[in-house]
Amino acid sequence: MTNPTFIFSLDCEGYWGMADAVADGWSPGWTSAALVDTYQRLLALFDRFEVPATWAFVAAFVHTPEEMHERGDLTEQPLSYRGRDWTAAFKRAWAAGDTDGWLCPEALGAVRRAGGHEVAAHGYSHLPLAEVDTDAAVARRELDLQAAFWATRGIRPDTVVFPRNQPGHLTMLGEHFVAYRPPHPLEVRRDAAARLLRLVDEVNPFCQPAAQSIAGPLPIPLPPAMLLNHRAGGRRLVPPAITLLRIRRLLQRAMDSGRVVHLYSHPHNFLTGQGQFELLEGVLSLVRTHSSAGELAVMTQSGYAASVRAPN
Ligand SMILES: [Zn+2]
Repeated sequence: MTNPTFIFSLDCEGYWGMADAVADGWSPGWTSAALVDTYQRLLALFDRFEVPATWAFVAAFVHTPEEMHERGDLTEQPLSYRGRDWTAAFKRAWAAGDTDGWLCPEALGAVRRAGGHEVAAHGYSHLPLAEVDTDAAVARRELDLQAAFWATRGIRPDTVVFPRNQPGHLTMLGEHFVAYRPPHPLEVRRDAAARLLRLVDEVNPFCQPAAQSIAGPLPIPLPPAMLLNHRAGGRRLVPPAITLLRIRRLLQRAMDSGRVVHLYSHPHNFLTGQGQFELLEGVLSLVRTHSSAGELAVMTQSGYAASVRAPN
């Protein structure tokens, strides 16, 4: 397929994405109520511009407290990652009866009620799956637990977003998923120099859209995604007009060459980013202009994977 395409995916995780940092004392103070409000505002925005999105959920994040209590997988058993318990901070919050930011089943409910969007997977507990840190037995447990959880919701996610954007255990993932979102080349490293490179790339006028995926063994790699600038910290200094110009260029290049613009964000970035909703509104408005003119296909990760596997 060579249709110019736009995909927007969201990593939905609350505190699970930063479970180790929370254990070290990082406390962003997000409440589950504020997160739900953010999801609802985002859904209204996507709806307004008729853009279906992919919402990749950490399964633990959308458990009800009753389910968490009944299962005990995360409240009682340790989950070793780099010599520590990945669930230590959650266990403390659970014991204190304060699961704000950790449990938010209403977020999944809001996405499902909105309709038209894809529910994708983002791990059971957001444990990174890179083989260097997580062995096959632990990865298998994560995959089995998330599959069991999604079955309770009557959902079988087609696509997966790797926790921390760290690919691993691909063959095993092929048993569960049709496609995965690979990291953008600049996102593989997490050191300070890489962060600076990513910031510089925000103002790079030569940025290019991603190549189309080709069919192959499952899971197939989707076009890599670029982070929609999170307007916090140093990234707040990048003016929204520059980000919009960058995305305008990316879309134009995608339409000129039949390539793909895949952007991603986290709903919680909209709690902390300055003018983050307005930035997304600008992006979706651009996308809508081109999609309504028939120049750009807007797809979910799942829809895109299906079109790669069965081109018409
Ligand atoms: Zn994540």
